[in-house]
Amino acid sequence: MNIVILLGAPGSGKGTVAAKLAAENANLKHVSSGDLLRGAVAKGTEAGQAAKGYMEAGKLVPDELIATMIKDVIAESTGDVTMLLDGFPRNVAQAEILEKTGAEIRSVVLLDVPDAIIQDRIAGRRTCPKCKAGYHVKALPPKVEGKCDHCGTDLVIRKDDNPETVKDRLVVYHQQTEPLIAYYKAKGLLRVIDGDQGPEKNAAAFKAAM
Ligand code: AMP
Repeated sequence: MNIVILLGAPGSGKGTVAAKLAAENANLKHVSSGDLLRGAVAKGTEAGQAAKGYMEAGKLVPDELIATMIKDVIAESTGDVTMLLDGFPRNVAQAEILEKTGAEIRSVVLLDVPDAIIQDRIAGRRTCPKCKAGYHVKALPPKVEGKCDHCGTDLVIRKDDNPETVKDRLVVYHQQTEPLIAYYKAKGLLRVIDGDQGPEKNAAAFKAAM
């Protein structure tokens, strides 16, 4: 098992790209730290209860909390699978934890998108609470308004996708996650792609870069 890390601000489209590629190739496994945490919150587990307040405020949850979940997923994964790791690591301390697991990092792909575009994108973002498929009212609308193409479930707006929390999440990204760009560049693992080409071209560019 090896890992491709998706790096990018919230709303940069990394989740959509990873989901699309994983749906097309059974050997790719999309693991989203945000989805793992939202699942734990929905189930009301101890970790979910601990994470909820941070998530609603747009802050990072404690490193150990999310690292434990990611380590469990890595430990369960066997065979010829490439994991598309979306949302983890989010800071240098998490990157160091990931290295200590001994998992092989193949590349780190940065979806580069300016903040102004991100705010617009998140405003139109809709998510399926059941199968986690992502949509955008303008750029990637579902076939039937408000319904998931895959499972027909009513689409929702994430609680942390309101404009105020988005601003906080972008501050957190610039302060805590952006240092990973230099960190992985120094290791020769970083690939940068323009994340503002639309979902299809983003996915193609990502595939070529990973
Ligand atoms: P996302 O779906 O990736 O935008 O994540 C949603 C929220 O989950 C973030 O705003 C954080 O509160 C939390 N979260 C996700 N991944 C991490 C991580 N690697 N470290 C800390 N918090 C995280």
